[in-house]
Amino acid sequence: MEGSERIEDAVIVGAGPIGLACAISARRRGLDPLVVDAGAICDAIVRYPIGMSFFTTPERLEIGGHPLVCSGKKPTREEALMYYRGVARAEGVRVRPYTLLFEATRVGDGLECRMETRLGPERIRCSRLVLATGYYDHPNMMGVAGEELPHVHHYFDEAHRSSGQRVVVIGGKNSAVEAALELFRAGARVTLVYRRSEFPPSVKYWMAPDIRNRIAAGEIEARFGAEVMGIEQTCVIIRSADGNREELLCDRVYALTGYRPDFDLFRRVGIELDPETCAPAMNPETHETNVPGVYMAGSITTGWDTSDVFIENGRFDGEKIFADVVRGS
Ligand SMILES: Cc1cc2nc3c(=O)[nH]c(=O)nc-3n(C[C@H](O)[C@H](O)[C@H](O)COP(=O)(O)OP(=O)(O)OC[C@H]3O[C@@H](n4cnc5c(N)ncnc54)[C@H](O)[C@@H]3O)c2cc1C
Repeated sequence: MEGSERIEDAVIVGAGPIGLACAISARRRGLDPLVVDAGAICDAIVRYPIGMSFFTTPERLEIGGHPLVCSGKKPTREEALMYYRGVARAEGVRVRPYTLLFEATRVGDGLECRMETRLGPERIRCSRLVLATGYYDHPNMMGVAGEELPHVHHYFDEAHRSSGQRVVVIGGKNSAVEAALELFRAGARVTLVYRRSEFPPSVKYWMAPDIRNRIAAGEIEARFGAEVMGIEQTCVIIRSADGNREELLCDRVYALTGYRPDFDLFRRVGIELDPETCAPAMNPETHETNVPGVYMAGSITTGWDTSDVFIENGRFDGEKIFADVVRGS
């Protein structure tokens, strides 16, 4: 199905908090942007563990000046999802879910975006393209055999289905530590495998003593300095810190080894990436990339290191991207 020849003011790719904030910045300058998302609105937050609390306090997650009210000190996944959906509705932002941007090319004065939808390919033309695609839909793969087996999961959603199961959690950052603790408390027998010799300082301050104490008490097993060599139906094979091969018996594996932006998409759009950091060629004042009319917002602006920009500091990017638009011009 081919799209009409309507030219959108702006297409914003990614209906996460940053994409929605960009849309609000555009609308407040008189534009009528179209926001598309490969998944649901705020798909990355949909993928968070059920019931998870943010580490950020609510006022730092707000967009468009709308108050985020939550029942505790910090919002939960569910409260954030309701909030961002509600803000999009209140601001009249047009959102098309389940519409994936595959590539974009410059055509005349504007851009032509090739989208993939459930019903087939579609072209959408626009004057300005903003990528706010985040990183959470591309897990870092370890490159070992068995990683694609059905009992290997790259997202942790909830612990209760693992009760009474032997579970190997791979990773040592917040996602892995939180999963290991929840799984243990739901009655799973947990072994945590981490390639470094100790947890990083970024582990949430309230979880760090908890996980250390559980390991010290032998309630959660841990293998630090260990390398995963492969995954089979019944075990994870590791090379332990002392160089020995070990088979860790398990029924389920959570490989929580981080996520990365879709660098292939950026290259298909023509954006130049730093050969080492994969940071995009982008004007820091305007967020315009080396491709005229193509902008980037949020955590994707820093390449591999996605820990510098998150919701609380990425939510203002739209103000820079649309700063040159004078209302009514
Ligand atoms: C478990 C967890 C807890 C976190 N807690 C916090 C916290 O407390 N505070 C904080 O500030 N940050 C937190 N973060 C980080 C935060 O989630 C991200 O910084 C934030 O989601 C980035 O927002 P974004 O809008 O840039 O990207 P995202 O929220 O990732 O949104 C990007 C959207 O783009 C869509 N997309 C991707 N590719 C395409 C494509 N080709 N075509 C169309 N759509 C596409 C995705 O489906 C997604 O919906 C947490 C992250 C995780 C994983």
